Parts: sequence; C-alpha cells; structure tokens
Amino acid sequence: MPRTAKRLSLRAACISIAAFTTVAVTSGVAWAAYTDNMYPTQYETTACFSEGGPDGQVSCQTDNATLTYYMDSSGSNMLETVDRDVVFEVMAQEYAPTDFSVSYDSTPSFSGSAETDIVYEESSVGMSSSTLGVTFCNNAASTTKCDQQYIRIRGAGYYTHGRTCHETGHAVGLLHGGKSAPQRSNSDPKLGCMRTPTSPGDGLGANNIENINATY
Ligand SMILES: [Zn+2]
Repeated sequence: MPRTAKRLSLRAACISIAAFTTVAVTSGVAWAAYTDNMYPTQYETTACFSEGGPDGQVSCQTDNATLTYYMDSSGSNMLETVDRDVVFEVMAQEYAPTDFSVSYDSTPSFSGSAETDIVYEESSVGMSSSTLGVTFCNNAASTTKCDQQYIRIRGAGYYTHGRTCHETGHAVGLLHGGKSAPQRSNSDPKLGCMRTPTSPGDGLGANNIENINATY
C-alpha cells in the first residue's frame, strides 16, 4: 500500500488502543529507514498532552501535513530580523522540500481547531541553564497529535540553522536517538539536526526526511 496509508494504519492502531497516559506502539512493520525516530516509538509512548510551558517532554506529531508557522513579532519574545531570517531559511531549505506543505502565517490563530501549527519565540526557556531551545505542545488535538506547538530559543545568537531545524523537528514529532527504534546514539550524525548536541550547520538529512514523508 502507499507509504502514507501504511503509516496511517499503524497510527490508527496506536490511537485505538491508547491508554490515558501512554500510547501503545505496534512494532514489526517493515521499515527501511535507518531508524524510526517519529513519535510514537516503543521508547517514547508518553501521550501527547497540552502544556502551558516547557517541561522537556517532546512527544507529539503535528496534526496534519499543512504546516503553518508564525514568529512572535512584538513584545519581549519577538524574533529580531537575524533570527527571523534563520527560521525562514530552515523552513525553505529543510521542511518545504518534504511532503509538508509549508507556509508562513502572518495572521496567526491561537484558538479553535485549526491553530497556527508552530509559534517561534525568542525567550529564556525556563529550564536548566544548559537548555538553549525547547518545544512544547500548547494544544493537543489527540493523544498523538498537537494542534499548536511553541518553540522557544534563547536570544543572543542561539537561533542557528541546526538548532531551529532540531526544535522544528520536535514540533513535527521527531525524537532523539535514544527514543528511536532501533535506538541510536543521541550524537549519531545520521540523525541530522536531531542529534544532540546539534551543530549550527545541521540539516534534516535522509533519515528525518524519510520519517516525515512516511508520516505526513
Ligand atoms: Zn531535542
């Protein structure tokens, strides 16, 4: 069957047997990727849930293949021009060539059932001092999908291509190596910008693209 249908049938099975706090994962599906690093995996089954701020939990897909994004444009969390240029570059060079239909939403929606998918802010991230960027789901649409994800990256030069690619990857469901199946080192270069630590020049790379296109 088409790869999308194959993936969706797996996801449908996951949803139908979901518990309150975890999402069951069906294993054994033929899978050609280097590793399945798309949430959920057998190593990351925490159900997607809504949060008011970051807690380090990143376990949601975005709710569909139409990927809209907005960058905070006023107030204390706004992105400066240099940061905006990085986000535009990452979306154009990394995510637009995938099966996502990517567009900037200059009139963002923050309520209802079709909110702007990703909101970028330049902000302290509210966690440990070594954390430079975070992603959290503001409005879960189901136990696996989020209607609106927030990305916060610190100011003063931390909006790099690689880090923006990494946090955006989390916002669409991509996981670290240790949560992938089969598990990989978190620093494995084949994870592209989803490796940690992430290098400024990292892009998606083949494995992330394959997982995105099989899911959306
Ligand atoms: Zn991460």
